[in-house]
Amino acid sequence: MSPTVHGNLIVGPTAIDIEDREATATTREGLDELIGKGGMNVKDLPMRQVITSFAGLRAHEEGHEFIIKELEDAPGFIDCAGIESPGLTSCPAIGKMVAGILADKMGLEPNPDFEGTRKGILDPDELSKEDRIRLIKEKPAYGNIICRCEMVTEGEILDAIHRPLGARSLDGIKRRTRAGMGRCQAGFCSPRSMDILHRELGLPMEEITKTGGKSKLVVGTNKDRI
Ligand SMILES: Cc1cc2nc3c(=O)[nH]c(=O)nc-3n(C[C@H](O)[C@H](O)[C@H](O)COP(=O)(O)OP(=O)(O)OC[C@H]3O[C@@H](n4cnc5c(N)ncnc54)[C@H](O)[C@@H]3O)c2cc1C
Repeated sequence: MSPTVHGNLIVGPTAIDIEDREATATTREGLDELIGKGGMNVKDLPMRQVITSFAGLRAHEEGHEFIIKELEDAPGFIDCAGIESPGLTSCPAIGKMVAGILADKMGLEPNPDFEGTRKGILDPDELSKEDRIRLIKEKPAYGNIICRCEMVTEGEILDAIHRPLGARSLDGIKRRTRAGMGRCQAGFCSPRSMDILHRELGLPMEEITKTGGKSKLVVGTNKDRI
């Protein structure tokens, strides 16, 4: 059991060998195992608070090795395969290794002007009360709560949309601000976030997607269908 950076608690994961490369379903047995094992550490696990459970596939390599190298039959293509656990922990080192391979191959030098950090999205919750009041006076969008489960303001969503590589879908907004991640799973904030995408980007409502591609959310207005 571990806390997330956002203060939620996560239980798990399990690790089960399967052959199906598309199988990302959770199972009753898997959840029961977690409840049983988690329950050994925490009395009365509050499982009713769980909003949703996920399963992911680990990119398994028989020898449990990461394969990080330029492919012989595809020069210039650097393979990063078999990145199973602890792939997340290793990713900064993997990034440096790949950069090193490319630097050697292409004779690249570090760019002294590279700015490696980026400005995060301002979360009014992290400000003092006085600073938050000042911010809302200056930019009233930070006083307009769009996602009431996660208390995400319109100001944060505007920032998510208008920053470089800005959000273009509901999931784009969700991943940048957490709007839609809470108890109601975007039931209340979806139409409001769609309104903002429509207004800010001039996107027709019918073109707004949950997560790009064909995941369109509406087909038209009621009157069109009568
Ligand atoms: C349940 C579970 C628990 C884990 N726990 C840990 C842990 O505790 N510690 C740890 O270090 N590691 C852990 N890992 C492993 C870690 O998550 C992976 O090693 C890491 O995420 C691999 O990173 P990656 O960038 O190689 O691949 P991924 O994170 O899988 O990223 C690949 C991305 O490519 C996208 N993609 C796929 N196909 C396409 C396409 N055709 N076009 C565009 N995009 C595409 C995918 O959507 C995905 O976002 C865990 C993994 C799982 C499944």
